Amino acid sequence: MAGLTVAWLIDGTHEAVVFERGRRIGGNARSVAVRLGGRPVWFDLGTQEMSTEDYPLNTRLMRLHGFGDEDFVEVPASRTVLREGEESPLLVGPHEPDPGWPRTKVLGRHWDRLAEFLTRAQEWDNTGLDWEVRLDEMLDSLGTDRRNRPLLYALPAALFGCEPREAGTLSARAATAAFLGGQRSDHAPVTENVRGGLESLAWSLATDLHVARIRPDTGVVRVRQSGSGYELVDTTGEVTRVEAVVFAVPPPVTAELAGSLDGLRDLGATLTAFPYRRVDYALHRDPVGMPDRLEHWSTNNLTLGENHSETTVWYGPVHGVDVFRSQVSRRSRQPSKVLARESFRQLLPTPEVVRAQRRLAAHQGTDNLYFAGHYAFGIDSQETTVESAALVARRLAPSSPRVARLLGTEEGSHDDR
Ligand SMILES: Cc1cc2nc3c(=O)[nH]c(=O)nc-3n(C[C@H](O)[C@H](O)[C@H](O)COP(=O)(O)OP(=O)(O)OC[C@H]3O[C@@H](n4cnc5c(N)ncnc54)[C@H](O)[C@@H]3O)c2cc1C
Repeated sequence: MAGLTVAWLIDGTHEAVVFERGRRIGGNARSVAVRLGGRPVWFDLGTQEMSTEDYPLNTRLMRLHGFGDEDFVEVPASRTVLREGEESPLLVGPHEPDPGWPRTKVLGRHWDRLAEFLTRAQEWDNTGLDWEVRLDEMLDSLGTDRRNRPLLYALPAALFGCEPREAGTLSARAATAAFLGGQRSDHAPVTENVRGGLESLAWSLATDLHVARIRPDTGVVRVRQSGSGYELVDTTGEVTRVEAVVFAVPPPVTAELAGSLDGLRDLGATLTAFPYRRVDYALHRDPVGMPDRLEHWSTNNLTLGENHSETTVWYGPVHGVDVFRSQVSRRSRQPSKVLARESFRQLLPTPEVVRAQRRLAAHQGTDNLYFAGHYAFGIDSQETTVESAALVARRLAPSSPRVARLLGTEEGSHDDR
């Protein structure tokens, strides 16, 4: 998404070439259509949740590509937490306004602990808690009982695809950001999905390129210096000469491709400081990962095992169909009626990542080498991905009308970022 966004923004000002190692474009935006009841229904296996309100740049980019209000579906992000092998759920949060199926909340002491923790985390967030403070350090300072930690670690562990005990090593602000503001006993937070799948944005960006070229199924294997520019050697053996390179791949990949460039030599340890975890997803029709009783079903259902925590998303309240998307890397009971599978690599937001992001930002643009994508700053999301792409495009093509339209810096507007 970052690479395509940069290319679309600078198209016409520069001649961009987007290399994509895979056969399809979109990276973590991976949508599949399933024919249900005679109509195609789209499901996102990777990036799925967004917010037109909290994601202003992504929303503007989508609007520029013709997406309207009808293309976003509201999803009440209700939550159930199950312990593997136990019949009764640990908690079942609210699902508002009217769930449309008989539903019983299970709030109790687990809910109280979670709500209290998130309220305190929100206070820390408001007071500008340093991004480098780890989650376990934050819990220590709050005096949180160690016996409650498996529950508190379960949410970020599922979000980032790591083991629950690893969640304590994540940046507290990054680990809790996705859950803040929504854990009240009287309502569920609301997120939005793209009705036709987020991958449709990638295709819209790609088909609206006039000068830029996309090279799918063509990975870059090496970037080498050539005079004042660079040569990109790809998997077909071809060599492409360029003036500038935007690395829109995970930093450890950049280290492999280009670590020996003069302009990146000092960044070796920085580029490899970004840890990723593989997460496998399945889209399925059997309700594996769901509570035994319908009254406990939520849109997000989390199964907590001895050393793992994985989610199952139920699409009933979104698309009116009993289709589920589950993380299936570690759970003991696997779905059998599988419609699609996909694997992703998820960035773990550790304090080392926060420090590495600062070093990369200081290096941005040196020797015409740029960094764009989910890893560049802040929290890995569709919004930061688009924002990082827009900021790189603005440096490469300050006069590009598309950059001005996206950043709201056209004549007559007052955004001076
Ligand atoms: C499973 C998952 C779910 C997520 N869910 C959400 C969500 O609900 N909401 C949200 O806001 N954010 C979510 N995110 C975060 C965020 O949206 C993504 O991280 C974002 O899509 C990243 O885009 P990107 O362009 O930076 O990187 P990527 O999507 O990783 O794209 C990098 C691309 O580079 C290609 N590539 C790699 N190596 C090479 C090479 N050598 N040569 C050429 N090409 C190469 C890859 O094939 C890939 O297509 C999710 C992330 C993941 C992994």
